[in-house]
Amino acid sequence: MKAYRDQHFLTDPRIVARIADLLDVSGRVVLEIGPGDGILTQALLERGARVISVELDSTLITRLSGRFASEISDGSLTLIHGDAVKVPLPPFEIVMANLPYSISSPITFRLLDIGFEAAILMYQKEFADRMMAHPGTRDCGRLSIMLQTYARANRCFDLPPGAFTPPPKVRSTVVWIEPREPLFPIQNRAVYEDLVRELFTRRRKTVQSTLKALAGRYGTERILSVISDLDPNILSSRPEALYLEDFATISNRLST
Ligand code: SAM
Repeated sequence: MKAYRDQHFLTDPRIVARIADLLDVSGRVVLEIGPGDGILTQALLERGARVISVELDSTLITRLSGRFASEISDGSLTLIHGDAVKVPLPPFEIVMANLPYSISSPITFRLLDIGFEAAILMYQKEFADRMMAHPGTRDCGRLSIMLQTYARANRCFDLPPGAFTPPPKVRSTVVWIEPREPLFPIQNRAVYEDLVRELFTRRRKTVQSTLKALAGRYGTERILSVISDLDPNILSSRPEALYLEDFATISNRLST
């Protein structure tokens, strides 16, 4: 049998209920990523959700197919065998998952690309801290800026390793995420994404120095015009000191 990473299962029904009760899922279509043995799946079905569960491990798929045979046949549960980062997904409204931590970043950005109403997702605590880090703090990086541009995120509660079997090495954090339109309008999302990536790849450099390094991509004339238009305080800052509005301002100048 092929063993997958990230198989840390919740066993305490009170913790599972605490997660499942964070949103009203009754009558809603809920995407679950990595159902494992089905403890959260069961809680969601009991609360009247229509559940779509995506699981990579074929042994677990076989087990889930037996455990939930009647829910699969009455249409309240759809099981999908595949990698949640790549597999085609049917429409859904809400996402709930005790995520496999190795796919935290790609699955979060995939979900934001697809769109949803709200999500309750469990992450490794250190990853969740970075997602919610405020501009101007050491933990703030590309992940924080990209998530906070397209969504609101709040910490619900933390869980110790002992809440899982087998226990992981790290603490976990349950996060509530709700997509939103960017607070500061972005003219070209691809340019915004490129700029945020480039600035944090050179996080010890000033904005001005990184902009100069992008002359090959955006053209020397445009870069010089952006530099001459920008506030000198922004130009002399490092990316972790910038606010969401600053990233939007720079990328909009780059886009015109
Ligand atoms: N939801 C269960 C629970 O809370 O007890 C299991 C959570 S466990 C942390 C993560 C689950 O995701 C495992 O069942 C694992 O097999 C599955 N998994 C790992 N990588 C995956 C991927 N790329 N796509 C879908 N499922 C994946």
